[in-house]
Amino acid sequence: MSYGELYLEGKGALEAAGIAEAELDARLLLEYVCKTDRNALLVHGDRQVTPEQEKCFRELIRRRGERIPLQQLTGTQDFMGLEFAVNEKVLIPRQDTEILVEEALRCLHDGMRVLDLCTGSGCILISLLQYSNNCTGVGTDVSKEALKVAAENAGRLLGEHVLTGSGEGEKRICFLQSDLFEKVEGMFDMIVSNPPYIRTRVVDTLMPEVRDHEPRQALDGGEDGLLFYREILRGCGNYLKKGGMLFFEIGYDQGETVRGLMEQAGFLEVCVVKDYGGMDRVVCGTLGF
Ligand code: SAM
Ligand code: GLN
Repeated sequence: MSYGELYLEGKGALEAAGIAEAELDARLLLEYVCKTDRNALLVHGDRQVTPEQEKCFRELIRRRGERIPLQQLTGTQDFMGLEFAVNEKVLIPRQDTEILVEEALRCLHDGMRVLDLCTGSGCILISLLQYSNNCTGVGTDVSKEALKVAAENAGRLLGEHVLTGSGEGEKRICFLQSDLFEKVEGMFDMIVSNPPYIRTRVVDTLMPEVRDHEPRQALDGGEDGLLFYREILRGCGNYLKKGGMLFFEIGYDQGETVRGLMEQAGFLEVCVVKDYGGMDRVVCGTLGF
């Protein structure tokens, strides 16, 4: 069978399964299986695939048809120009979250110490350290499995040997299994967080890829979706230096409420920043003296 024929078969199967981006997903899976790129598939559409590639591709198409996210099938997601390993234990890094990283980078100066609460794959903290100088960071998550993924990503992308749960010591980055601040020590210049923020009753209405295959623990922000913002704001005065900055990712309809919560907690110059879709996505502010 040729690349071209196999692609059409995969695309047809995904369309039949109701996958919205059937064409794109079939192409990306074929590239993944054949370890090739878009150009090669276009130019050499008549090239023959091996029987193993054919079998592997069909199996992945079958699984994608069951609504398993593409990134869990290929095991990776690009974020801030870096390739992050992902699995079903972590939220797949979202493009919207790049807004938070970009905003935080504008205020991140050499040598700062950063805390990332709810770190998941580690994508926020690792990107911040990758694009700054001499900064150090601590990432926390309740999920041990997520922290393994974060440590693997930090090891590969930052070139450091990272142990989860170990003391920070001399290390540039460390990950702690911790319920928010529970195990965190010391003071930070910046705190960042993309916590779970979907209202509990809304989680069941999300698309099957998210609802059934991403960790519920990464999504459910309690009855009103604001549980984590309240908890983090309650604790952050003990960990964020005066004049330090806090950056939250938020849901599209949470901007004004989270702004109010931050102002009540003593933050100044609180700003709501929109994503590329024009939706409120980030709230940030400076802790007053
Ligand atoms: N920071 C990653 C990102 O932006 O892609 C992951 C964000 S995901 C929305 C939220 C993460 O919070 C999940 O990895 C989940 O395990 C973690 N989490 C849930 N409850 C937590 C808690 N009480 N303390 C720390 N982390 C928690
Ligand atoms: N943006 C995620 C979604 O796709 C939610 C992430 C979160 O709760 N922090 O639904």
